[in-house]
Amino acid sequence: MNSVDDRRDRTAGSRNGGATVKLFIQKVHSPQQSLNDSLEEEVQAFLIDEDQLHTYDDLTKVNPVTPTTVLKCLQARYSAKVFYTHAGCTLVALNPFQPIPHLYSLDVMKEYHCAAQPQEFKPHIFIVAEEAYRNIQGQLEPVNQSLVVSGESGAGKTWTSRCLMKYYATVASSSSVLTSQDTVDRIERRVLDSNPIMEAFGNSCTLRNNNSSRFGKYIQLQLDRCQLLVGASVQTYLLEKTRVACQPANERNFHIFYQMMKGATDEQRKEWKMSHDQSFVWLPNSEKQVEEDCFNETVEAMVHLGINEEKQREIFRILAGILQLGNVSFSSSSNESQPCDLNEQSEDFSQRAAELLCVSVEELRTCLRVRTLKAGNQSVLKPCSQAECSVRRDCLAKVIYAQLFEWVVTFINNSICAEKSTWCNFIGVLDVYGFECFNINNLEQLCINYANEKLQQHFVAHYLRAQQEEYVSEGLEWSFVKYQDNQSCLDLIEGAPVSIFSLLNEESRLNRVSDAKMLRVRLEKELGDNKNISWDKFSKVPHFTVTHYAGKVKYQIEGMVEKNKDPVPPELISLLQTSDCPLLQQIFTDLETGNPTTKALSKVTVVSKFKNSLESLMRILHNTTPHYTRCIKPNPESKPLTFKKEEVIAQLEACGIVETIHISAAGFPIRVPLGSFLQRYGLITKYRSRRHSVDLKADSNNELHREVEKVLSVMLHLSCDGRTSMVHHGKTKVFLTQAMLDILEGQRRKV
Ligand code: ATP
Ligand code: MG
Repeated sequence: MNSVDDRRDRTAGSRNGGATVKLFIQKVHSPQQSLNDSLEEEVQAFLIDEDQLHTYDDLTKVNPVTPTTVLKCLQARYSAKVFYTHAGCTLVALNPFQPIPHLYSLDVMKEYHCAAQPQEFKPHIFIVAEEAYRNIQGQLEPVNQSLVVSGESGAGKTWTSRCLMKYYATVASSSSVLTSQDTVDRIERRVLDSNPIMEAFGNSCTLRNNNSSRFGKYIQLQLDRCQLLVGASVQTYLLEKTRVACQPANERNFHIFYQMMKGATDEQRKEWKMSHDQSFVWLPNSEKQVEEDCFNETVEAMVHLGINEEKQREIFRILAGILQLGNVSFSSSSNESQPCDLNEQSEDFSQRAAELLCVSVEELRTCLRVRTLKAGNQSVLKPCSQAECSVRRDCLAKVIYAQLFEWVVTFINNSICAEKSTWCNFIGVLDVYGFECFNINNLEQLCINYANEKLQQHFVAHYLRAQQEEYVSEGLEWSFVKYQDNQSCLDLIEGAPVSIFSLLNEESRLNRVSDAKMLRVRLEKELGDNKNISWDKFSKVPHFTVTHYAGKVKYQIEGMVEKNKDPVPPELISLLQTSDCPLLQQIFTDLETGNPTTKALSKVTVVSKFKNSLESLMRILHNTTPHYTRCIKPNPESKPLTFKKEEVIAQLEACGIVETIHISAAGFPIRVPLGSFLQRYGLITKYRSRRHSVDLKADSNNELHREVEKVLSVMLHLSCDGRTSMVHHGKTKVFLTQAMLDILEGQRRKV
């Protein structure tokens, strides 16, 4: 089936502020086309030929659109090595897990960029990129664009985001980039170089992905009046800083540490106070060969971005200091009034850590082992337990790493952000963690899944708006689509006056040790009426289960409040403020002045901070035209060209594709142009004998409507007790429910 006209239709929809999702083959026939030809094609449209499934470029054209047919189609395409498929206004990207030669080459970029109608080409991420780029020129508001890339860990979000950035760095470059590879230079180069740096500091090798992003990222590519890329800015979300001091079993720390270990010169090792055979507690699985362990590339990118040698030295010394700190361990003191002892060799490690962080070793050791309690004007020193000492050590590492990451991001922004006066539009690329559901889920997963609920709400609103636009332009009422959105789940998590977040915040503000059982009782009392939350009363471990749009997730309550408070002992901040390292001084500025850094560290809870940053992201998304790409991981082992149905269907559910299919089903998923409708079903009511031109010109239009109306009234009378809710007669199309289509097809077979 030729899809050219369909694509035009789809694009036109998206230019109107939102792509229109077509759930039925729509072909505006050219007058020259013979009726027989078009009839032939229409008949094809109704029947799925399983052998041809791989040829369906748009999942919404598979008829009927069900999770099973959609899955079959994707599988057929994957086997045929076709990795991109449209799903209405969404692009589905299946991860090939192997390099696909030439798929992303400069020539291919050029083809899509220069095409009069890129949509006529095979589905590709470059279509999305180009569509957004051309929308910027559009007359319609908003002209700013957002490319939302989602999917589970290892599905290919970061890969896709990089690919999009490369596309714009090439096509939106002032130099003649389309003829030569090495012309991607200057600002374009710097924008691209932000990737290896941020990935070195924010990515890690996990069980699910060797290069897993442990933070969310929204990058705005700034374009000037001529649509040239003149700069960019990055916003990051929720770095998983706990990884610095605590790596899940069989996973690793952030790449940058391994890069340093593998790439250091002898001189650097000496400076970092580490020998060749030195092992570090916080560097598990060092032996694993990971492609991303490329120190030189990171350093080169740092140089391009303007991080000078001196700053680099400071950064690496701080990181080396963190590693040394990780080797410090404690044992309980025989005398409770005395601080814990430092374990064997820990004297040495703490000495090196102090030197690398440029703080006094005595003060470091004291801070780690002794708490200062304030009683009125008096300060009382209290030795910490062995476990508390370890918590303080970890906390010190986390706060340093998180602040260093922020500093790096700010530096990148200063280096790549264009002056406001020089750019007028942007294309934003969002690469955020997908929906997560593990055996044990805690505050991190709650935040991540909350972000996904927000994005899903945005997606559904956009999708419904697109549908609504079509209904309205067809002269139909919109009110008949009844769809329950995920607002009640969002109310449960973040709503006012009470929600999970508000109760967590309340509990976090109380200066007491939180009790998980009590909190569970409180949650049940306050939120028990919400249908999205449930409890297993017999479970020994206190938890609650949230029904997300993508499935149920059981959250453990233990530890949630502490994670939400994310307390940093003030002694640790004071210690870092005394550092002679200019970078640490800069990062940890004056506590007493209550500047934003320290305020953020002490007062604002994790969920409040996250909610705020997400709300500002949503405001940006609402003011842009969105384009969605859903990355799918076809198998959990990251094996090339292996498609596991159960894995894929679960992801289609989690990323909302199945949900949108259901939403469509709630409306009128089948839309048939009037002429085609008459050709196919006119036969049933004997109007088939009158041949109608399908060229919808003004004078034949009234007649066409009359004929269609006759068919519909006969049909309704014949087959479904006059249930008008199953069919609508629009200006150019007939809108049908699946049930009505089945009835029509049944009747058609009888004649
Ligand atoms: P996470 O949420 O863990 O960060 P992710 O969705 O960002 O995961 P990526 O890191 O982008 O996942 O992709 C995982 C791996 O899959 C990549 O390192 C790459 O090897 C492979 N990959 C992804 N997309 C493609 C592609 N289009 N072609 C070839 N390989 C790909
Ligand atoms: Mg990633």
